[in-house]
Amino acid sequence: MTWLDNQVALITGGASGLGRAVVERFLDEGAKVAVLDVDRDRLDALEHESDDVLTIHGDVTSFDDNERAVSETVDQFGRLDVFVGNAGVFDDNVSLPELDADDIGTSFAELFEINVLGYLLGARAALPELVETEGRIVFTASQASFNSDGGGILYVPSKHAIAGIVRQLAFELAPTVRVNAVAPGYVPTELSATDTLGGDRAIVTAEEFDASNHPLDIVPTPEDYTGPYVLLASRENSRPMTGTIIRADLGRSVRGITSV
Ligand code: NAD
Repeated sequence: MTWLDNQVALITGGASGLGRAVVERFLDEGAKVAVLDVDRDRLDALEHESDDVLTIHGDVTSFDDNERAVSETVDQFGRLDVFVGNAGVFDDNVSLPELDADDIGTSFAELFEINVLGYLLGARAALPELVETEGRIVFTASQASFNSDGGGILYVPSKHAIAGIVRQLAFELAPTVRVNAVAPGYVPTELSATDTLGGDRAIVTAEEFDASNHPLDIVPTPEDYTGPYVLLASRENSRPMTGTIIRADLGRSVRGITSV
C-alpha cells in the first residue's frame, strides 16, 4: 500500500522542475495525475510516460483553462482529491530602482497573475470537486515566503502572498478541505538556473550553489523535495494539518543563513 492509492491529483506547472518531480513521485505513490502547463512539448513527452497521466495545455492565469483542467481530470479519472498549485516564474532578482517607472505596473501584474492569481484561480476551479472528496490543496511556497534574499521586489512579495493565502484559505475551507504548502529551499531548475523574464540573472546555478553553507550540505535535486508534497497530499497522513507551511530548506532557517 502506497500513500496516494486511488487518489487523483491535478498539478499546475507539472511539465518541468519541481512540479515534474512531484508528478513522478505521486505516480509512484499510486495516484493518477493530471498536469496543467503552458509548455506543450514537455506535456507531450509526459503524456507518453504513463496511462495514469493526463496533460492539459493551458495557462493558470485563465479561469477557463483551470476549469477545463478540472473537468477533463474528472472526466478521465472520475474524481479530484488533490490540487497542487505550483506553476511560477522568477523576476531575475530585479530591484525597485531598476524597474522602469512606466513598466512597474505591467511587470507587477504579469508576475503576480501567474504566481498568486494562478494559485487562487486553480483552487477556486478545483473547489467543488475537492468539497465532494474532502480533498487537499497543496501550494508551492518558497523560502522567499519568509526571507528577502530568494528573489527581487516582485518575486519575494508574490511568495509572501502565498503564505497569506495558505493561512486564510485553510481557515475558510475548514473542516472540509485542508490547505497546506511546501516551502522549498534552493533547487536547480529552469526557474532558478535561467531567468524567466528575459534578463540574464539567475538566482544561482547548481555549480555556484554553496552547499557547505547549509547544515545539510547537499546540492538538492527536485526529487529531494517531493516527500513533503506526498505527506500533505495524503488523506491519512496529513489529517491534523491545515494552514501549515513545511520549510524544506536544507536547515537554512535554523542557522539564519541569508544567501544560497
Ligand atoms: P520551472 O521553470 O522548472 O517550472 C515551472 C513550470 O511552470 C514550467 O513547466 C512552466 O511551463 C510552467 N508555467 C509557467 N507559467 C505558467 C502559466 N502561466 N500557466 C501554466 N504553466 C506555467 O520552475 P520550478 O523551479 O520548478 O518552479 C516551480 C515552483 O517552485 C514555482 O512556484 C517556484 O516559485 C517554486 N520554487 C522554486 C525554487 C527553486 O529554487 N527552483 C525554490 C522555491 C520555490
